[in-house]
Amino acid sequence: MIALSTQTRWGNILLGKEYHGLYLWLPLLLSLLLPACSKQLEVYEQRLYVFGTLVDITIRGVSEEKARQITALIDTDFQRMHHDWHAWEPGPLVDINTAISKGESIQVIPSLLPIIQRSTELYGDSDGLFNPAIGGLLSLWGFQRNEPPNGPPPDKNDIKQWLVQAPAMDEITVKEGVLHSSNPGVQLDFGAFAKGYAVDIAIETLKKHGVQHAIVNAGGDLRAFGQSEGRPWRVGVRHPQGKGVLASIEINGDESVFTSGNYERYREHEGVRYPHILDPRSGIPVQDVTSVTVIHSNGADADAAATALVVAGPSEWHRIAKKMGIKYAMLVDGEGTVYMNPAMQKRVQFQEKPSANLVLSERL
Ligand code: AMP
Ligand code: MG
Repeated sequence: MIALSTQTRWGNILLGKEYHGLYLWLPLLLSLLLPACSKQLEVYEQRLYVFGTLVDITIRGVSEEKARQITALIDTDFQRMHHDWHAWEPGPLVDINTAISKGESIQVIPSLLPIIQRSTELYGDSDGLFNPAIGGLLSLWGFQRNEPPNGPPPDKNDIKQWLVQAPAMDEITVKEGVLHSSNPGVQLDFGAFAKGYAVDIAIETLKKHGVQHAIVNAGGDLRAFGQSEGRPWRVGVRHPQGKGVLASIEINGDESVFTSGNYERYREHEGVRYPHILDPRSGIPVQDVTSVTVIHSNGADADAAATALVVAGPSEWHRIAKKMGIKYAMLVDGEGTVYMNPAMQKRVQFQEKPSANLVLSERL
């Protein structure tokens, strides 16, 4: 992980010119001014890189030295996660997938156990729409590589064969750290969830070291806690077509905002776009949903849910969100129609009033 840039800003709490000559009154003035200014805390910003994404960490209210030390710890964690969780670069996850494909059991490194366990629960809660066992299908579609895929879609027979195997997270057992799958087609890929999980671990580290105000922003998917200059953090929701910011949301206490979209990565062939979020039921990419934004207390669940709701689409997003315990969700379909629950509508402020339809759901 490379620190691409480091920038430190200092709170502007110095007295202005108008106070020159009044230094005898300085202690009194300071005591009057400081409460008003105390909201302007020192800001530290650091940019890291993990899972192919730039991660901006903003910390308020601790010294530069302390902030630097904490972000160094987070960077070390990110490097470890990148190595341990990568689905196609050599490492522990690739070893697991190789063992499964041979029908062998394998000892799992401790850092992977909680991610396997939580993603299996989320698989169940999403009715299998979030399914990190679809690594084989992602590979067929060319999404397990660093460069964007091109050329025609995979052979229909290969997809059919994958559907016959129907790899699923509940075909994995882990006993005393040893993993086995009854289905050799199971290939783990945590691409839909790892970013959220990593953001949560970074937030845990920040809190453990006494930070009270921070944002960890992984390419527009983020978790924030505390405040910015005495007010709640206000964060942007990425525009579905990648055109900057669609809307803004105020963070209440400690929350994550995650957006999944088909504009991020896709394969294009003869004018047809095949986005990177796949429907495990059909084996093909979801084409009629542009984006889903979820607000939730933690990043891992928000990340998994945003992906699952893209697969669920306009007809099923509400049922799946409810089942996953999501309280705020917004879906934009291919025609620009915006679907959301009433609580989400109260929180989201559009940059420009959406010209398309708004479909308000029942409460979540
Ligand atoms: P996200 O941007 O969080 O929605 O994650 C998208 C990534 O998740 C894709 O690039 C794939 O690696 C992976 N993925 C695609 N479809 C699914 C799915 N239905 N369940 C789980 N992971 C998926
Ligand atoms: Mg996701």
